[in-house]
Amino acid sequence: DEDRALLGEEGAGGERVDEASVRPVVAVVGRPNVGKSTLVNRILGRREAVVEDVPGVTRDRVAYDAEWSGRPFTLVDTGGWEVDASGIHLRVAEQAEVAVELADAVLFVVDATVGATDTDEAVVKLLRRSGKPVVLVANKVDDLRGEAEAAMLWSLGLGQPWPVSALHGRGSGDVLDALLDVLPERTSVAGAYPRGGPRRVALVGRPNVGKSSLLNKLAREDRVVVDNVAGTTRDPVDELIELGGKMWRFVDTAGIRRRVHQTRGADFYASLRTQAAIEKAEVAVVLIDAEHAIAEQDLRVISQVIESGRALVIAYNKWDTLDEERRYYLEREIERELVQVQWAPRVNISALTGRHVDRLVPALEVSLDSWDQRIPTGRLNAFFGEVVAAHPHPVRGGKQPRILFATQASTQPPRFVLFASGFIEAQYRRFLERRLREEFGFEGTPIEMSVRVRE
Ligand code: GDP
Ligand code: GDP
Repeated sequence: DEDRALLGEEGAGGERVDEASVRPVVAVVGRPNVGKSTLVNRILGRREAVVEDVPGVTRDRVAYDAEWSGRPFTLVDTGGWEVDASGIHLRVAEQAEVAVELADAVLFVVDATVGATDTDEAVVKLLRRSGKPVVLVANKVDDLRGEAEAAMLWSLGLGQPWPVSALHGRGSGDVLDALLDVLPERTSVAGAYPRGGPRRVALVGRPNVGKSSLLNKLAREDRVVVDNVAGTTRDPVDELIELGGKMWRFVDTAGIRRRVHQTRGADFYASLRTQAAIEKAEVAVVLIDAEHAIAEQDLRVISQVIESGRALVIAYNKWDTLDEERRYYLEREIERELVQVQWAPRVNISALTGRHVDRLVPALEVSLDSWDQRIPTGRLNAFFGEVVAAHPHPVRGGKQPRILFATQASTQPPRFVLFASGFIEAQYRRFLERRLREEFGFEGTPIEMSVRVRE
């Protein structure tokens, strides 16, 4: 069934993106361990196999395509956003705040066996303020006895608590029906971005890499329109900037312009902001401070972009500070740390002096073109036919898995589905991906490849 759904998306004319861009967004919010991930998996009806099949993806993605009673929506799983266990109270609230900003409706999950905690109460306040529809999930109600515990959650003042066992599935249909009742047909989050509007860019990177300097540089030289995204009054302000004769929408610039307070958990907050901006953008510019050694955090931001399936440009900023020696070490660092993203266009800039800032737009265009690129099925299969004939998959247990058929299921980013006669090893998949890039380019875009085994 899943195969057909995927292929059907192509059959419909490849306009998956337009359909996806109006889909309402549901965020699953709650304390750690209340069962958010379990609920997400329950709603998705287990897509594990597909996730595992994507090379390079070690962690589940944040947003998933989901459906209930024939209505598609996007499900945002905030579970994976938790970085560590300190300052939980604050973090859960912040996580909820960002998730709510991104969502049209919220599934708020509470552990009915524990009851409402202070953290839950803090989240409730925030949810109320947002004005977004909330469905209260009283989870871990595995049997009839738990229903009384669930009823205690009326005290949260969010209306009816829906008793659910995410683990066993009990009550999950009812809660999804309740969700559909309050979920708009179309999203108002992405609805702020009309089809065919300016392309959406996120400027991301760890603190002090020069994001706001670059934004100011870009904005000062050209026309700026500040655009408060419809439906939300808080932070996410976009700026429309004309560059290279075209309008570009820089998303979530308020978060860049306003210095985030150095509170406990500020890093975590910044990382959620980054995630939110990436989710709203089509292409992300990851800024790296060329003056200092490439940090774990730089690599993490790059991974966030790739895992979110957005186009990517890497900008090494503060190029004005480099002397010969630093330049030498920087090149070595890039070779060592960033081999996995050699496909991303690179610009060496100075937001301070304006050096090579004009190279940003051509780089954005290259990445977006790749992100949009579609390879006709005939050409794709001819290509795989040649590659596999020249370099067949190694024989395993006396059998040789063959690629039977390949198709590009979607663009933005390019996603490929391979049908194979047996298990295709990760190493061989990486080889295929490499050849695919050599043949078709895809400069600046992650590509996804999943394999379906046909017996
Ligand atoms: P998250 O941190 O909110 O994403 O929570 P998880 O989904 O990882 O679940 C935390 C723990 O609660 C896991 O051990 C789950 O198996 C368990 N759990 C989740 N849902 C239920 C449920 O409906 N009933 C019971 N008994 N356990 C559950
Ligand atoms: P953000 O936290 O990523 O928004 O970084 P900022 O734009 O606030 O920049 C942090 C610091 O780096 C500020 O002191 C900037 O003046 C400085 N800075 C930003 N870009 C450059 C650059 O290209 N060259 C130099 N030398 N300094 C820069």
